[in-house]
Amino acid sequence: MSELESLNDQIRRCRACRLCQARGLAVPGEGPDDAEIMFVGEAPGFHEDRQGRPFVGAAGQFLEQLLASINLSRRDVYICNVIKCRPPNNREPQPDELAACRPYLDRQIELIKPKLIVTLGRFSMQLAFSGAKISRVHGIPKRVGELVYFPMFHPAAALHQPRYRASIEQDMLKIPQVLANLRSIESEESRPPQQLSLF
Ligand code: URA
Repeated sequence: MSELESLNDQIRRCRACRLCQARGLAVPGEGPDDAEIMFVGEAPGFHEDRQGRPFVGAAGQFLEQLLASINLSRRDVYICNVIKCRPPNNREPQPDELAACRPYLDRQIELIKPKLIVTLGRFSMQLAFSGAKISRVHGIPKRVGELVYFPMFHPAAALHQPRYRASIEQDMLKIPQVLANLRSIESEESRPPQQLSLF
């Protein structure tokens, strides 16, 4: 079993906060162990809690459409949430629940080493943009240490509020270029020094 699979098994059995009492299934996340892009949403909803899989309801269908707009499918990316268990009645996650769950996401990021972390909605945006307004920072990549974050509105918000829909669609279309830039920075950095000095 890979380290990521065993971490995800641990998440399925987690009892670190009150959300374990009301959950159906915990939802660790899914996708390739070496995905270049990781999408991080808020928390599982009704369908995710039943199936143990992230983004399988209406917001998930919209996310799949958005991925298709850049020629990707959900099998190409890692998809997870900041909170791994459904909050009762889909209420907002509470600070102690976010704190209890945070080590799992941190470890997933360490193991997968994504080139780009796309945050979906306000809660995952807080990973890199503490105190920021999503309406100001969406669609602008930000490097924090080794990691690069790209904040977007949550697909569920875009489904319910048509004014966000154009923003989320446009932000998604920026991702291939952001990724291409990151790949070229990485290959510059890995080039031997003599070769760099030719330019
Ligand atoms: N919304 C989320 O933030 N995550 C899911 O997995 C589903 C809906």
